[in-house]
Amino acid sequence: MYNDVLKLRKRGLSYTKIREEIYRKYGVWIDATTISNWLRGESSPYNGRRIPSLELLKPSEDLGYVIGVRLGDGYTCEKSHGCIIGLQAKDKEFVEEFGRRLGNVLGREPIIPWKDARIYIAEATSKTLYELLRKPVDLKRIKKYVEHCEKCMAAFLRGLFDSEGCVSERGYVYLYNTNYEVLAYAKKLLRRFGIESTGPWPQNKANEDSYYLYIRAKDLPKFYRHIGFTVRRKQKRLEEYLKRTGKL
Ligand SMILES: [Zn+2]
Repeated sequence: MYNDVLKLRKRGLSYTKIREEIYRKYGVWIDATTISNWLRGESSPYNGRRIPSLELLKPSEDLGYVIGVRLGDGYTCEKSHGCIIGLQAKDKEFVEEFGRRLGNVLGREPIIPWKDARIYIAEATSKTLYELLRKPVDLKRIKKYVEHCEKCMAAFLRGLFDSEGCVSERGYVYLYNTNYEVLAYAKKLLRRFGIESTGPWPQNKANEDSYYLYIRAKDLPKFYRHIGFTVRRKQKRLEEYLKRTGKL
């Protein structure tokens, strides 16, 4: 019944129609709250562990993006009601994109962000994703998902740059992270798109816990074409720079 409900909803049926279809097939009236909880992923017959193990988690662009965000602004935590993967940020379109892609990875509807003060939040529970993404994130463990294909790599980098990238006045794209290994990994992946970067360097000598790298202006058209930003204000700055210098 659960799988039928998901399928019927995907075909665009209303709750009323779904209830009728289920009744026709199984002779049971399920209530609208149950349907709603199933569709939002709040509950399921799989006990919130819809992807039962890491072996069954499939590489995809959506997963690549989620992993990239997780290494940036995203977080994981363990609470009484489950293992949480989430993002809090002030750019609405960023949190929406994360929620949409996280929903796809978990085989459920997009997770619609909610607002707390000026911050947007999107969270979901998944034991399997938690196992993959909990801290400290093991780069060896995420590699096969991130490097699955060019599209997965690009989505991973986009998630990372949406989180911690920025465009300077002079048209350099910077990427910050507290983890040196993450930046070294990003540098390696960028190179596979022909994008050269400089760094990682410590952000300031007093604080060795933060690092950055930057992409030089000459490779920005490639960055724009292959990676780019979901965050509108960052993408706009990049486009403005490229237009100003006749590269777009
Ligand atoms: Zn792929």
